[in-house]
Amino acid sequence: MADPARGAVRASRLETFHRILRLEEERGYGDRAVMGGLDRFLAAWRQELEQEPQGALLDHLTRLGVFQDSYASRTVEDRGAWASRVLEELASAPDASAKARAAAYRPRKPRPVPPGHSLNRPASVLPGVGPTIASKLQAVGVHSVRDLLYHYPRRHVPIVWIRDLAPGEEQGIVGTVWEARAVNIGGPRRQSTEAVLSDETGNLRVVWFNQGFVARSLRVGERVFVTGHVRIYRGQRTLEASSYETLAPDDDAFRPGRLAPVYPSTEGLTQRTLRRVVRSALDEWLPRLEDHMPQEVGERQDLLHLADALAAYHYPEDGPARSAARTRLAFDELFLVQLCMLARKADWQKQGSSIPVPVREEVLRAFLDALPFRFTAAQDRVLDETLTDMGRTWPMGRLLQGEVGSGKTVVALAAMLMAAAHGCQAALMAPTEVLAEQHYLTIGRLLEGFSQPVQEPNALAVTVGPLSRPIVIALLLGSQTAREKEEVRGRLKRHEIDIVVGTHALIQRDVTFPRLALAVVDEQQRFGVMQRRALGERGTRPHLMTMSATPIPRSLALSLYGDLDVSVLDELPPGRQPVRTKWLRPDQREQAYRYLRGQVEEGRQAFVVCPLIEESETLQTRAAQREHRRLSEEVYPDLRVGLLHGRMSLAEKVEVMDSFRERALDILVATPVVEVGVDIPTAPAILVEGADRFGLSELHQFRGRVGRGEHPGACLLQADDPSPEARGRLAVLEQETSGFRVAEEDLRLRGPGEFFGIRQSGLPDLKLAGLGDLPLLGRAREEAARLLAEDPDLSHAEHRALAAATEPLRRALAEHGTAGE
Ligand code: ADP
Ligand code: MG
Repeated sequence: MADPARGAVRASRLETFHRILRLEEERGYGDRAVMGGLDRFLAAWRQELEQEPQGALLDHLTRLGVFQDSYASRTVEDRGAWASRVLEELASAPDASAKARAAAYRPRKPRPVPPGHSLNRPASVLPGVGPTIASKLQAVGVHSVRDLLYHYPRRHVPIVWIRDLAPGEEQGIVGTVWEARAVNIGGPRRQSTEAVLSDETGNLRVVWFNQGFVARSLRVGERVFVTGHVRIYRGQRTLEASSYETLAPDDDAFRPGRLAPVYPSTEGLTQRTLRRVVRSALDEWLPRLEDHMPQEVGERQDLLHLADALAAYHYPEDGPARSAARTRLAFDELFLVQLCMLARKADWQKQGSSIPVPVREEVLRAFLDALPFRFTAAQDRVLDETLTDMGRTWPMGRLLQGEVGSGKTVVALAAMLMAAAHGCQAALMAPTEVLAEQHYLTIGRLLEGFSQPVQEPNALAVTVGPLSRPIVIALLLGSQTAREKEEVRGRLKRHEIDIVVGTHALIQRDVTFPRLALAVVDEQQRFGVMQRRALGERGTRPHLMTMSATPIPRSLALSLYGDLDVSVLDELPPGRQPVRTKWLRPDQREQAYRYLRGQVEEGRQAFVVCPLIEESETLQTRAAQREHRRLSEEVYPDLRVGLLHGRMSLAEKVEVMDSFRERALDILVATPVVEVGVDIPTAPAILVEGADRFGLSELHQFRGRVGRGEHPGACLLQADDPSPEARGRLAVLEQETSGFRVAEEDLRLRGPGEFFGIRQSGLPDLKLAGLGDLPLLGRAREEAARLLAEDPDLSHAEHRALAAATEPLRRALAEHGTAGE
């Protein structure tokens, strides 16, 4: 048995270590946070741990590399990276003592559920939940009793002794009411409540501003829990209450030293009500809760029992107990997602067969040799991975990630050519007409050396290398005339078209592909998953490649698109120039205009991107026209200013882009839709208007337009009226140049749900798991794979609860789909 006193020392060492790392962070990693340096602290700690009979914590810390290298000998950057990694991993893996205290995984027999009771019943079956409260609960996403168990606290407030209350953070106390009365403070307008509370350590004045009615509900001698901020008021400590509730005499959940939950709420729904309702769900259900986690997974991963984790996450004993609970619950989220994703992947590969596409080396060679550049090593690798997959009889499901400008399109084109060379069809679907057109034009340019004249405006033919017949490439858009569309559809059906580029028009019911071997979906994040699935339903199952310019961390991609294999283009083509980014206030607009003029005087060109107007493309177009007029008449009457917007015909767009490319225009005003694919090496400057309305990743995409020629790029972000959040985004862009870091920041600022548009894509909303949980994600994925290897459809009796737990997720995925089924 471990000596409890020793356990306490150990916990406090770990806490000290946390504190030291945070202090180091604050003080710039100068190794001054602890006397004698961090290495000395670590050496002493290690020695102490080595004396322990069971070295779980020592093992854990050693695995994390805490004792590995001397801290003093690292560079400041290294120290920073090391410290944040260690902190992150300590947060996701509970320390051994917390686990010991919170009781490790223990299977148990749940108490029987009374007839008619179920977690799926509406929250209104609970006592004290009438129609008003029920509707407020719905506003925060709580419908069923189960939802209450999973209505996680947004944060926790530490409960302290009255003696220890201090100004600063919100804190909570448990006290007995001595007196309470309605008073007029600061004028007679509204009454406030003033009370005196006490605990074993002292007395305290508590004030409820503008809430005279509270006085009537406080009874002398009653025990209450109050949260708030302490202020010094006429030399006396006063707690300004933000929430309060009356406690039953034996209520043990609120005690100094513990943490009290603060829940996500809404207007008219008090913390008191939320705590009461959540607790009544917890009280009734935790003893009856069956844990869906297979016992061996729970033991192997050192997880808490589900009931313990829920109890400890709502009402933690202390910080480490909360973190152990969080780990279990976050593991749950990731594990269930992985189970569904991996099962779907297996399904998708098992169900239909695809056309195996062999590599025609001579054709590929001829294509690559004719390009004006050489593939980067990353492009070679990714093409190789893709072609290997496409050679199989089961469908490929691959996510191709790469920064804007990393050369994804040309890799996709090579793969599509291989399909066509094998006598099959390939389709490339883009989220907007502009993007589809741009792809079509880019493909035309890349294949310029092979092109042959064709009759229709929406198709081109090429004969690459030793192919005996031309490959026909066509464009299909919703905005084409009925006759044009009919023509393209007919030729697709007769297999007279080999490669088709288009929008949603490609997945309408009346489009058929007799021999579709490969479907490529661009910018898949912006796409409803529905559409991706539909493209996978035509005829045989095509190999599927989805492309994304948002370089999300690979392991996170695995979580969110767990049914796809991931390829990463992690290298930009050579010769890209760094892009300097500057954020400008409205009064600095003149400066921006001067800068662009300077560029033009140097013989270069510049882009101006119009602000985003979400309502309609017509409005957007009008705004762009206005901006164009203003710039060409007022700001740059002596320069050649062009305009590009989505409402122009393809021919008009080509004309504008060509004249910009040929330097017949100095400045190109474009709507935000023209964000991808414009590739003009002589234009090193871009000015983004209304930059505060765009997301980080979008701004990063704009920036990717420039810096492609011999001159370093400049990106000017004009912000009209930035909110604090927008200021944060703009500052990130000024500092970070790597798309990876930008995406990480974006993810951190917006949270995974919004970042990935998870709700609309039907992917599960991860409530707890986040970027910091990557190690946990790896473990969850491993366990899921291991389990499915034994029991692919979760049909074993001992996995019954688990199968039920994955059910809602599977239903959601079946409705929306990701890989395409
Ligand atoms: P992405 O779709 O990844 O944003 P694109 O495929 O549009 O990138 O490529 C951006 C530009 O870089 C295109 O003009 C393309 O022709 C060019 N490009 C692609 N690969 C290379 C390479 N290996 N070397 C030089 N330029 C390249
Ligand atoms: Mg692209």
